[in-house]
Amino acid sequence: MARKPMMAGNWKMNNAIGEAVVLTQEISNNWRKDWEDKVDVVICPPFVDLKPVKTVLEFDKTKIFVGAQNVYWEEAGAFTGEVSVPMIRECGCDYCIVGHSERRGLFGETNEDVNKKVRALLGGRLAPIVCVGESLAVRDEGTTNEYVCAQVKAAFAGVDADDAAKCVVAYEPVWAIGTGRTATPEQAEEVCAAIRAQLAVLFGEETAQAMRILYGGSMNPGNVDVLVAEPDIDGGLIGGASLKRDSFIQLVKAVMQ
Ligand code: PEP
Repeated sequence: MARKPMMAGNWKMNNAIGEAVVLTQEISNNWRKDWEDKVDVVICPPFVDLKPVKTVLEFDKTKIFVGAQNVYWEEAGAFTGEVSVPMIRECGCDYCIVGHSERRGLFGETNEDVNKKVRALLGGRLAPIVCVGESLAVRDEGTTNEYVCAQVKAAFAGVDADDAAKCVVAYEPVWAIGTGRTATPEQAEEVCAAIRAQLAVLFGEETAQAMRILYGGSMNPGNVDVLVAEPDIDGGLIGGASLKRDSFIQLVKAVMQ
């Protein structure tokens, strides 16, 4: 089955409003109408940039999607410092990253939290980009596929096949994120194929074949081609290389070919 590729930029805690608007405008200026059918481009800036970024894209009528990097599962109330699904939807988000390894590792996000966020997003008609990935210790133990598939199973608990089909999974080995050390295409493909097999167990073969699985972890214009040539890798979730116009545009073009 032909899946539409996706290239998503995770800006992390970079780019205050002024810089965010400039970078978005640069990306938007490079966007071409014929990209629309060939790739879904997603920009995931910090919360405070969501509305300004969306405003630039709306003004330009550029079909680039906006995603948040995190969300809370409750709709409103006494949850100091949190931001809800309706709030990010009102900012123009279509997507939201969930369970990034920095959220899991630095902020104690559990598989249960990830599942609550996934279900809240789907309930609010937003598409989660669910991040999974193993540490170096897990890889060295030789239990990567089991570990990652358990994360997938936990993230999608209670989700039905129709909703799952709207979700994206990002395989991001923790040891490859921001380190310059990329998984080999064979390593990445092995895990992405295992994720798809797990999705097939959960939701059936047809849904699993329709769902997009991205690779993330030091992907850049120099290594993108060999990674996205793998049959189960449908694009990238990009940190560092999404912060520069030229590298991000090169990545988008690479996944379209
Ligand atoms: C990420 O943060 O999701 C990521 C993949 O980062 P980097 O591309 O910098 O490794």
